[in-house]
Amino acid sequence: MVNRDCIPADAEKLTHPQTPLQLLLFVDQRPSSHEQLQRLLAYLEHLRSDYPFELEIVDVGQQPYLAEHFKLVATPALVKIHPPPRQTLAGSNLLSQLQDWWPRWKNSAEDYVKLHEWPSTNTQNTPCFADFAELIRLSEEIFRLKKEKEELQQQLQFKDRIIAMLAHDLRNPLTASLIALETLEKNYNIETGFSPKLTPALIMRLIKQARMQSLNIERLITDILQAAQGSCAELRILPKKLDLAVLCQDVIDCLKHRFETKSQELKTDIPNDLPFVYADPERVRQVLVNLLDNANKYTQEGGTIEICILHRTTQKVQVSVGDNGLGVPEEDREAIFEEHYRLKRDRDKEGYGIGLSLCQRIIRAHYGRIWVDSVAKGGSCFSFTLPVYR
Ligand code: ADP
Repeated sequence: MVNRDCIPADAEKLTHPQTPLQLLLFVDQRPSSHEQLQRLLAYLEHLRSDYPFELEIVDVGQQPYLAEHFKLVATPALVKIHPPPRQTLAGSNLLSQLQDWWPRWKNSAEDYVKLHEWPSTNTQNTPCFADFAELIRLSEEIFRLKKEKEELQQQLQFKDRIIAMLAHDLRNPLTASLIALETLEKNYNIETGFSPKLTPALIMRLIKQARMQSLNIERLITDILQAAQGSCAELRILPKKLDLAVLCQDVIDCLKHRFETKSQELKTDIPNDLPFVYADPERVRQVLVNLLDNANKYTQEGGTIEICILHRTTQKVQVSVGDNGLGVPEEDREAIFEEHYRLKRDRDKEGYGIGLSLCQRIIRAHYGRIWVDSVAKGGSCFSFTLPVYR
């Protein structure tokens, strides 16, 4: 923890301090500060014969948390940590500051010795640098762990909500499929092998219905598994209660000039009673920026772009970004979400083909879906879903 190479030979004393005057010298490895440091060390060595003190040298590169704790803005910096009060000297005139302060530091140490019967017989209660540094390190560690715990709790909460949402999503196709199968079963006469009350066309429709809904369930499960893999393995999100309408407006304000440059019209259809969503604001912002950026890029001058938000079910909100630009051919609608995939047609345009794959990872981490549809009048419409906040 402490940079042992920097510690003076008598540093062993620090675990059993012999003097109340304890100093910390913060240094860095910059060659430019080397000379100033040497002069300072020589002067400190000279002071040692005037009054004993303990000195610990700390490399800020190795122990940044200590520099942060002492709120240091420059190095080298000399901190008197004992006797209290703590005092920090820093700056290009550090040496002359030390010359000024030294008599007062020495007096305070002598007073401390008189008042506190130094050296203390109870060495366990004697403050020393090693304990002090360890204490700071531990408090930093506790702070970090607390933050991590909060984040994990948030993730768990998010998963709970998502599970409730997915259970709801699965129930609809499952119920439809069950009704179809039950109708077939009820009307089936086991002795004759006929279903007297059902026409052959109706039987066929019920079978198709059961099959289609089972396929829906299968697709949902595939989505969930992919999302679970994607979100845990790659992308960390910090979901919170989010007003999507406000975020959308904010993104539009930031990108407005781009649409103006191409004389494109930007329309919005955002309902007033939109529920909050449970999502990571920065990540959702990235998705909106990417989609709007693409709409702007792949739509001709004078074209129209529209953002529309729908409260699709009680569990999900759907955001769509549509344009009347070049559109995406049917056969490429899956592939454009792969990393580095770009349509041949667009390879001379700026870009790396990573925007949509990132959007997909972000939306999957929210257990949502993202896809593209064609638009009747030409162009494309990218949509994604996010969970509603409850
Ligand atoms: P980039 O735009 O950097 O190429 P993306 O991953 O955002 O990367 O998009 C992948 C490809 O999908 C683009 O190269 C383009 O061919 C196509 N594409 C994306 N958005 C649109 C759109 N709104 N209209 C037409 N094609 C699009």
